[in-house]
Amino acid sequence: MTVWLRGDHLLRHRGPLSRRPDEPLLLVEAESFARKLPYHPHKLTLVFAAMREFRDAVRESGRTVHYRRAETFADGLAAHLDEHPDDDLVTTEPQTDAARERLRSLVADAGGTVQFVPDERFLCSPDRFDAWASGGRYRHEDFYRFMRRETGYLMDGGDPVGGEWNYDDRNRETPPGEWTPADPPTFDHGETVTETAEWVAETFAGGYDGPPYGGDWADPEPFRWPVTRRQAVRALDHFVTYRLADFGPYQDAMRGEAWAMSHSLLSTSLNLGLLGPEEVIERAIGAYETGDAPLNSVEGFVRQVLGWREFLRHVYRREMPELAGANQLDAQEALPEFYWTGDTDMACLSDVVDGVRKRGYSHHIERLMLLANFGLVYGVEPERLNRWFHAAYVDAFHWVTTPNVVEMGLYGAGVFATKPYAASANYVDKMSDYCSGCPYYKTKTTGEGACPFNALYWEFLDRNEDELRSNHRMGLMYSHVDNKGEEEWAGIRERADEIRTMAREGEL
Ligand SMILES: Cc1cc2nc3c(=O)[nH]c(=O)nc-3n(C[C@H](O)[C@H](O)[C@H](O)COP(=O)(O)OP(=O)(O)OC[C@H]3O[C@@H](n4cnc5c(N)ncnc54)[C@H](O)[C@@H]3O)c2cc1C
Ligand code: SF4
Repeated sequence: MTVWLRGDHLLRHRGPLSRRPDEPLLLVEAESFARKLPYHPHKLTLVFAAMREFRDAVRESGRTVHYRRAETFADGLAAHLDEHPDDDLVTTEPQTDAARERLRSLVADAGGTVQFVPDERFLCSPDRFDAWASGGRYRHEDFYRFMRRETGYLMDGGDPVGGEWNYDDRNRETPPGEWTPADPPTFDHGETVTETAEWVAETFAGGYDGPPYGGDWADPEPFRWPVTRRQAVRALDHFVTYRLADFGPYQDAMRGEAWAMSHSLLSTSLNLGLLGPEEVIERAIGAYETGDAPLNSVEGFVRQVLGWREFLRHVYRREMPELAGANQLDAQEALPEFYWTGDTDMACLSDVVDGVRKRGYSHHIERLMLLANFGLVYGVEPERLNRWFHAAYVDAFHWVTTPNVVEMGLYGAGVFATKPYAASANYVDKMSDYCSGCPYYKTKTTGEGACPFNALYWEFLDRNEDELRSNHRMGLMYSHVDNKGEEEWAGIRERADEIRTMAREGEL
């Protein structure tokens, strides 16, 4: 028997490796996988370097590691099974039934067998979620409270610590002018990262055949993400010590000069298995208990990890394969090129795309209220925006990117989102410092120089009236729609057409 870990399941002290201390480990690096999309070079460096560091750490502990570098997974598995005929592999459950069957047949074709064990990167098992969800539609808030009760995190007997389930009313602030967040941590990356980054640049730049830019679209800064367990633990320490206290109040705020704000930057480590959700949650709660972080920040953070991350994983499992192609608003536009180039006069989008080109990262509210919101009101086909997010972000994996982009961002399926997150410049101006330095006029909706978000926002509501007007959460928005006269609508439609033309011609 051999424990086969895929590159995003690098768990050593939990999961199948810890339960089988005497079995060898198999890791397969498959290059073709990395050519599926024009991935940001930091994403490829992250995954391959983390696998190589993991290999070395496990070898150092005295265990046999079979490390296969191959063109495809099928080739890597075939090479392993040639040397170890009839091997029985044990690996973690993939996210969907279809993926499990694909893996099973890959191994069978190579002449082996495979057993699946639970995925310990998450706290809520499929059975537990399915039992909870058996009543029908799922709501995140209900799931989150269920998980608080199940785990006892931030609970005082049967009640939430502090008396409230959430402190959102304290968590929508924008920081004062003099506020500066702590600098994100950096790591002394050794030879493995240097060599992997060079190899990625040689092997994959220009290696993607499809449009656009053959994978050379990014403008990477030096690589900055944790690739070992030790670095990931340091990243967690750094967050809890220096940024957690301000996480809550400013979690929805955007500042051009502060790309990380007080966000944790832990998604890559959680998604690769370098950190477990329970240790991350318990460290944050520990900071509250010692008086080092306020409850509104700690609860806001726990909600993301215990609530949203777990919830979306199961939504994906249950709603695939339909979710990936869902498009209930029938949005058909192509993705504007500036998502790749950052070449737009819109100060907010230009800055956030620039950051993605540099780091493969932007924080949640920039993803949701700038990049996805623009795609939503512009009418980008959900699958196309999903591909972009998937290629562009260091923490992107299909199970997490798809529900976030297709459903939360673009309201593609209506399986859990109760309304689309559509907003105009008013929101961006309230939550960021972008509009004051932007050549577009935030308060203008029509005519030359009017902020593109504004006309597109109203036109979105008009265009999708049949689907959205009956939604009671959209009542206020449609009362404003009803207050607009014919002349105003003509100006809005004209401006929206103009914006689409400008975007197609690279002049927005
Ligand atoms: C359009 C869109 C695309 C996204 N794509 C991804 C993606 O590809 N990969 C990814 O991991 N997250 C994705 N997210 C969720 C979230 O934006 C990122 O997890 C977060 O920004 C990562 O940065 P952080 O670690 O600093 O997070 P923090 O803001 O510090 O949050 C703490 C942790 O909570 C978890 N979390 C928070 N929100 C979510 C969420 N909505 N879904 C799942 N986990 C969440 C993450 O593990 C994160 O590390 C996306 C969100 C949107 C709206
Ligand atoms: S005016 Fe419009 S385009 Fe410019 S920064 Fe504000 S929201 Fe973005």
